[in-house]
Amino acid sequence: MTIARAYAAFNPKDPLRPHTVERRDPGPSDVEIDILFCGICHSDVHQVRDEWGGSMYPMVPGHEIVGRVTRVGASVTRLKAGDLAGVGCMVDSCRTCESCARDLEQFCQKGAAYTYNGTEMDRKTPTHGGYSTAVVVDEAFVLGVPESLDPAGAAPLLCAGITTYSPLRQWNCSKGDRVGVVGLGGLGHMAVKLAASMGAEVTMLSTSRAKEADAKRLGASGFALTSEDATFTKLAGHFDLIVNTISAPHDYNRYLGLLRPQGTMVLVGAPPQPIPVSAFSLIFGNKRLAGSLIGGIAETQEMLDYCGAHGIVSDVEIIPADKVNEAYERMLKGDVRYRFVIDIASLKGA
Ligand code: NAP
Ligand code: ZN
Ligand code: ZN
Repeated sequence: MTIARAYAAFNPKDPLRPHTVERRDPGPSDVEIDILFCGICHSDVHQVRDEWGGSMYPMVPGHEIVGRVTRVGASVTRLKAGDLAGVGCMVDSCRTCESCARDLEQFCQKGAAYTYNGTEMDRKTPTHGGYSTAVVVDEAFVLGVPESLDPAGAAPLLCAGITTYSPLRQWNCSKGDRVGVVGLGGLGHMAVKLAASMGAEVTMLSTSRAKEADAKRLGASGFALTSEDATFTKLAGHFDLIVNTISAPHDYNRYLGLLRPQGTMVLVGAPPQPIPVSAFSLIFGNKRLAGSLIGGIAETQEMLDYCGAHGIVSDVEIIPADKVNEAYERMLKGDVRYRFVIDIASLKGA
């Protein structure tokens, strides 16, 4: 057993503060990782503040983890000490149920072991995430990160990257498709980069005029302000696919009006409150409203390899761990360009 330094939430209200967690010695199939960088996802804020219910404390958040392998168990074959490795939102699953057999571990029928704010599959040992100096994870849930990618920029791929890559693939994003991305934050900026790399014609739908130039730089050919009513008439019936990343309650019906007949809006943003959808928003145009949760392990590796081949990483603002509370406040104001990433070296000092 080793002790890792960490940053943790102790209740939904107080700021995160320094903490320590125990990490097991690597078992035969385990990989021990010295964490270099961990991204800050909006889901960290939802869970730290118990907005989705059921949060467990102390909570060490963080599921966008990149580091170097330090030790591996005797039966580990895919990774060795020194490799660049990643851990995303899951650290284990039952591996035998129908979902696991279909590479959809996020829907494990026994409940996946989430990287933090959850338990290992023994349903007793709490899991703790990447706002910490080290982690030990079974090889089956450790991803290989291409050495060509900047490790800080690669960290957000483990959640923001896969969460946007997976629905783009599921809904067959292809050359010439008109794709709308709603909300230019961590997920949104990855959705723009990935959809543009797949040849789509991407329009950014944002509340922030100040983000227009960035949207274009990231790969969007169009930009529209969702705070202006005219946007919803100008772009009515325009999109094949909309990836909606908004983290707060808003009217889905307005965005469904922007779809072409048979178009799809995929929700990845997860506001806690239920939101009414009119049947007519879907019936007129045979439209689909869908959801998408991260991605399975095989698809996450596929996404990392795709990003390696296309040179795609996240645009990051690197911060020391003691700025995490400030970063949460800035993210809540939409003031993030476009992912905060904790430099874990800041936790390793004397
Ligand atoms: P983020 O960086 O905070 O980005 C969210 C963006 O949504 C903001 O930058 C803002 O963009 C827009 N927005 C925020 N409040 C809004 C409001 N009231 N009305 C309209 N637009 C608003 O967050 P993120 O890390 O990308 O996460 C986004 C959501 O996805 C969160 O709910 C998170 O929990 C969820 N998530 C889901 C999954 C999944 O598997 N489905 C995985 C990860 C995260 P503009 O400034 O451009 O308007
Ligand atoms: Zn996340
Ligand atoms: Zn399973």
